[in-house]
Order: sequence, then C-alpha cells, then structure tokens
Amino acid sequence: MLPFDTVIAAREAIASRKISAVELTRSVLERIEKLDERVKAFNSVYPELALEQARAVDEGKRSGPLAGVPIAIKDNLCTTWGTTTCSSRMLKNFHSPYDATVVQKLEAAGAVFVGKTNMDEFAMGSSTENSAFHTTRNPWDLERVPGGSSGGSAAALAAGMCCASVGSDTGGSIRQPAALCGVAGMKPTYGRVSRYGLVAFASSLDQIGPFTWDAADMAVMMNVIAGHDPRDSTSVNEPVADHAATLDKPLEGLRVGIAREFKLADGMDPAVEKAVDEAIAIYRKLGAQVVDVTLPHTDYGIAAYYVIAPCEASSNLARYDGVHFGHRTAEPVKDIVELFSRSRAEGFGDEVKRRIMIGTYALSSGYYDAYYVRALKVKTLIKRDFDEAFKSCDLIACPTTPTPAFKVGEKAADPLAMYLCDVFTVTCNIAGVAGLSIPCGFTSDANPLPIGLQLLGPAFSEPRLLQAAAAYQRETDWHKRRPVLA
Ligand code: GLN
Repeated sequence: MLPFDTVIAAREAIASRKISAVELTRSVLERIEKLDERVKAFNSVYPELALEQARAVDEGKRSGPLAGVPIAIKDNLCTTWGTTTCSSRMLKNFHSPYDATVVQKLEAAGAVFVGKTNMDEFAMGSSTENSAFHTTRNPWDLERVPGGSSGGSAAALAAGMCCASVGSDTGGSIRQPAALCGVAGMKPTYGRVSRYGLVAFASSLDQIGPFTWDAADMAVMMNVIAGHDPRDSTSVNEPVADHAATLDKPLEGLRVGIAREFKLADGMDPAVEKAVDEAIAIYRKLGAQVVDVTLPHTDYGIAAYYVIAPCEASSNLARYDGVHFGHRTAEPVKDIVELFSRSRAEGFGDEVKRRIMIGTYALSSGYYDAYYVRALKVKTLIKRDFDEAFKSCDLIACPTTPTPAFKVGEKAADPLAMYLCDVFTVTCNIAGVAGLSIPCGFTSDANPLPIGLQLLGPAFSEPRLLQAAAAYQRETDWHKRRPVLA
C-alpha cells in the first residue's frame, strides 16, 4: 500500500511534513514500476515530470488543495506533456499543443501528474479490451476486466498507483469501472465540468469526472475541476457550491427513490441485488425516507444511446483522416480519397469502425428520421422520466452494473453483451443529470469482487449526492478495503 493513499491523507501528510511530496511521488513510481507490468493501467508514465512537480511543492513554489497529490489522467484528456493517444493507433504519436481545462485546474491546485491511463479506444467500450495497446487488469482479480472505458484510471487508483484519477463518462465510463474496481467515481451534471481538451466521443453526453476512494476526496476533486469555462460553450455558468460543505450533514428527511426499472428480470447477479438492498436498508436506518419512483423509459436507454453516441462519434471522428489529425498510411496511394480511407482503415480498431458505420448509417438520408430523430425523442422521454421522479425523491439508489467484473475475453467477441453492461448507467448521460458510484459490498468469490451502488440526482445535485455517499461511508467500510497485490 501507499503510505498515504487518499487525497486528503496525502495532502495533510505533505502539509504537516510527515512525508515530502517527492517521497510520496517516489513510492507511487515504485509501485507503478513493480505492479503495472501486471495491471497495465498506464499507457505512459512521466517520472521526471512528476518528480519536478513534487519538488516544486516541497520547495513551496506550488500550493493548493491538491499540493503534492499524485494523480493519473485518462489518455483522452489533452496534455502538453507526453502523448494523448485515446488508446488508438490513430493518435499513437499525438502531442497536444494545449492542456485540457481540467488538467490546467488540477495543475493549478498543486497536483502531481504521474501518467496517462489506458482506456477503450476513443472511450468506446466497457472493459478496456478495445484499447489498441493492451488490456488493463482488475486489481482485485487479474483475470478480470477493470471495466471501461476509463478502466486504466479506475485500476490505477485501486492498485495504489495514484491517490485519485480522472476519466470521462459518456454512457457509464467512470461509474462502471469505479464499481468493478471498488472505488468511487462521479459523472457530474452535463456542463458542470469543462470538456475543453477532452477528445470528443459523443459531445452531448461526454463529461469528465474524478475517481477517488471516498466521498470526502471526491468533494476535493470536484471543487477543483467544476465550474464555467468560456472555452466550452456547453459548460454552465452556474455558481459552484462547495462540495465539501454538506458532507457531514445528517440525512434525516432525505428522500431516496427506488425505481423498479433498475431490477432486471434476468442477467442480474443476486450478489449485486443483495448488496444494493442492504445499502438501501442503511439509508433507512440513517433516517432517509425510501420511496418508490418509476422511470418508465429506462428500457429504451440502451437502444437510444447506441444510436445517439455512434451518430455523434461518426461526425466527431471524421477529423482523423491522416491529414488534419492522426495516423497517415505509408502505402502509396493514388488520390486523397484513398489516403483517407487507408489511413482510417489502419488507424482505427474494430469497435471504433463499427460505431462510425452505425452512426453514418443512422445519419444518412432516409434513415435520419427513422433512427437519429427517433432516438432524440426517446432522449426527451427519458429526461422527462427523471424530472418527474425527482419531484418525489432527492436521489435514486440503484446498482451501477448488473454484474461484478467479468473475465477478460468473456464478452469481447459479443458487442451486444458488452453494450448491455451499460443498462443502468446510460440514462443518466441521456438525461444530463448527475451520478456517482461507491463500493457497497463484495461477492463471495475466492477473489471477492467489488460491487457498486449508484446514486443518481438531478442536475447540480453533486453536493447532495456526496452528502449521501459520505453518510453511507460513515456507516460502512467498503471504501477502506484494498486489493492485495503481492
Ligand atoms: N460503454 C459505453 C460505450 O461503449 C460507455 C462508454 C463511455 O462512457 N465512454 O459507449
């Protein structure tokens, strides 16, 4: 284990000189050196940059709420240091000329950047098996996937190779890997965190968010990264409430909604159902009022998501043509069209190609109304479901995923089975509301696997979600468990 492995413990230990930022960074780098051969959470590690940033903290040249805290960044956030690959051959050698706003904010808060984490190519997937480079392993059981697409960020934290990390969530890519790796992950309200410098997958759904061990750390991270950014026209100009201010407030009177649509008829692991039911019982005990709500269009979530997201992706990924951006074929070509098509054929992996084809098809003349416009209508219905449900509850509690981590290779050949991992997470993005996942139990396997509890709240309810998560974590110790990686 790291000597101090949470954000708050690390920054307090550094501030009180129990450890120097350089010493903590060294122990992170040593763990990466020792463990990442097996976990494979990182695409690239930058020891010199990290040590230099840490040294500046120790010399009093850098300060802030994350002073000296080692943080890992998903490889689809632009950084002027190192590469930004999106785990794609297409961007294997891409050096960004600018930093994402979130990266700038973390830097200004004193963070130490240890490296860029592995992901499904262009964030399309639920297991990191779609990475062009390697599959990340789940630190709780190396035979299993860490989830995806931000699997590298979740696994890096779970394995003690950073104290927090950031990822992106388009349909579950923060919450699902958080659940599978036994850490906390938040998808903020659409527009709460700037997307400037996040390589776009589906722009109307993408949102950047943190991975931490607990709610208190999550509040620190959200306070750093949230807020309006004139460089992202979809970022919202709403004041940011202090995410930490209400963490200790009791839950009396909080209305926790249970939606029957989040109970699957089949495909639901009984251990997940049991752990979530027990979590709800804890909310009752804490004085929350548990109420039934309904989200009647949940069933259409996957279908709508897998039209909207590929449509936007097909448009966003058009820029990777080997001329404007990305890999260019070395083969002789007869004209520009062949240059584009060969470069794209070589640069993109199968899942990305599949999405581009689905999106192009759904947007083409004659099909646009039948697929894309119809999916947008479903989006409106799903959004209305949440608006209606949040009239009678403050947040909704449900599982993050129907099953714990599956085996590497188990679903790799079956895209539809992979898509179904997202049943409980996609509607949150479609509606643009806030959601988080926290650990709420373990399976009884020989290698016990973590289970995630998802809390969904209305737009800008992040402080309340964190208040509810913190109250739960005062009663339980799931968030204190660590995988053993000898
Ligand atoms: N698993 C979903 C997909 O493959 C979600 C990905 C994400 O949130 N980036 O699209």
